[in-house]
Amino acid sequence: MATNLPKPRAYWEQGPAEWSAIKDRLDAAGTDARILLRGATIVTMDPEIGDFDEGDVLIRGKRIEGVGADLSPAAADGQAIVVDIAGMIVMPGIIDGHRHCWQNQFRRVIPDADLSEYVKTLHGDFAVEYRPHDMYVGNFLTMLTLLDAGVTCITDCTHNTRTRAHADAVFKSYADSGIRAVHAGAPSSTGIWEEHLPEDLIRLRDVYCSGPDSLTTVRMLIDMRRAKPVPELFAFAREHGFGITMDAVMGQRCDEIVELGEAGLLGPDLTLIHCNDMPEAGWRLIAEAGTKITLATTSEQQLGLGSGVPVIQEALDHGIRPCLSGDVEVCLAGDMFTQMRATLTTQRMLAKARKYRGGANAPALIDHRDVLAFTTRHAAEAIGLADRIGTLSPGKYADLIAIRAEDLNNMPVNNAIGTIVLATESRNIDMVFVAGRLRKWQGRLVGQDIDALRTMVRDSRDHIASKVGFDIRPTRAIRLRHDEIQHRHQGSFDAIDDLLTRGT
Ligand SMILES: [Zn+2]
Repeated sequence: MATNLPKPRAYWEQGPAEWSAIKDRLDAAGTDARILLRGATIVTMDPEIGDFDEGDVLIRGKRIEGVGADLSPAAADGQAIVVDIAGMIVMPGIIDGHRHCWQNQFRRVIPDADLSEYVKTLHGDFAVEYRPHDMYVGNFLTMLTLLDAGVTCITDCTHNTRTRAHADAVFKSYADSGIRAVHAGAPSSTGIWEEHLPEDLIRLRDVYCSGPDSLTTVRMLIDMRRAKPVPELFAFAREHGFGITMDAVMGQRCDEIVELGEAGLLGPDLTLIHCNDMPEAGWRLIAEAGTKITLATTSEQQLGLGSGVPVIQEALDHGIRPCLSGDVEVCLAGDMFTQMRATLTTQRMLAKARKYRGGANAPALIDHRDVLAFTTRHAAEAIGLADRIGTLSPGKYADLIAIRAEDLNNMPVNNAIGTIVLATESRNIDMVFVAGRLRKWQGRLVGQDIDALRTMVRDSRDHIASKVGFDIRPTRAIRLRHDEIQHRHQGSFDAIDDLLTRGT
């Protein structure tokens, strides 16, 4: 069909009034609206479809209807909302495979912490003072920051669920932000709790995850406090159809994975976080079972999980393409581009060192597309959503982002994958769609009041800090002294040293 659409214009050629008119049409559009994003560089991450130096993405309602070099005939009836975005890169929304979102009133509070210090401070002190409202505030701040940074799906490993109300509060944060969330629910690691898990996962799914188009799903998280022995938790999850995420798999905890594998209890519905210093027997069992691996590269390195060496190469050597994750922001960077860059440089450093030192079987170097796949396609597999998100494929949900790729810090685009991984920051992310709904537009979150959020975050933080007896002073020595705060629940962490070393 002939069309009369002119050549797509670059994003910087259009004035505020034109963008405003498009936004008005988007706001007025019905649930079945067609939106044609034209003239961008398209990175689909779908190996069957490939990429386009210049191409279009057609959104219809919640889903992607088409991807191609020129979809302008789809707009020939004049009904589609046409958005010219030459100069931008369109890619699938980023997926974070594991983050403890509730903590973020305390971002960067202990930047120099090691694992022991982190656990004792966050779980032993701050966590026990969290009210449901504080769970909401920490979570909501995290959700908005993730959307701003191009993350459309978060695996919220919520290991401070003291009560049902604490869980309800984080579901409110998902709804209020509009992000796609995988709620991986676990008890609080310390203190009194309602002993409502794992059974409450069923209620949460019934209440919050109804319908095939729900933006929320529920998994079981197994972390430090186990309500039942792990085989019983696995059996419960499988009886009720929940995927399982196991965190804090490192050091001596790897032996538990070997035992579970030898008992035939690993499976493709299971995702293991970290896996530092996993013995070879464990890797074989993980690979045979199709169990997934999620790395938190900077966490493993900086906090020193086990030996501190991320297991990127071990996973690849066993045919496993891992997923990446942010883990905690109290002592780490928050954005997923940092995870991609750190994972890439770590694998290449280790591989190069082996070759330089004469290793006969030094591994191949991974590339920028590999780490992008670890945060899109493979991440969707790790959280059981590969049929819905992770690539720009027709029929999948329209979870996608558009990056201004001709801004000061990234112009000119000479290689789209390199520009995404090495040069993209939140400020370059112009548009974010989740299931076809606009969450960020022209570089600003849609419908969110950041001033109100700031007040809520500071009030919540100050409440908890005063309960714990911790003065927030931005210029204080940044390493907490353990005797300054109470560590009332330190006794809960007698086993923590097991996580720090394999021991013998
Ligand atoms: Zn974790």
